[in-house]
Amino acid sequence: MKVALVPTWLQEFEKEAGYMTKQEGKEQPELQFPITFSKCPNCGSTRRIANEVLEGEKKKKGLNPKLMATLLQHQVIIADPTRTWLSAPAISSSFDACADCGTVYCVVAILGTAMPGDPRQSRQSRQ
Ligand SMILES: [Zn+2]
Repeated sequence: MKVALVPTWLQEFEKEAGYMTKQEGKEQPELQFPITFSKCPNCGSTRRIANEVLEGEKKKKGLNPKLMATLLQHQVIIADPTRTWLSAPAISSSFDACADCGTVYCVVAILGTAMPGDPRQSRQSRQ
């Protein structure tokens, strides 16, 4: 089970780098999930390696047009590993690489709920 906490050294680093102070005092808008990125943040291309291969397979084999492919999937549970918990937010994110410049970037991030003992470790929210 992957559990993420921001380590103290990182919080100190961010404070020293001015990251925290820039955001203090400003009301940040609440994140709206799913968060999607439709183009490469580096070059603006919409072509992704896994997606390009999948599109070729869809044409050749008549696969479901709604299928989506990415190179990496990752899930993190936001909980304190030193405490017991009944449910915790779980973020599932998918990454792909730009077919034009190779930049790896997040394609979609979904917020769900994780529960201890759930073999899938999370249920995706239906937002
Ligand atoms: Zn690119």
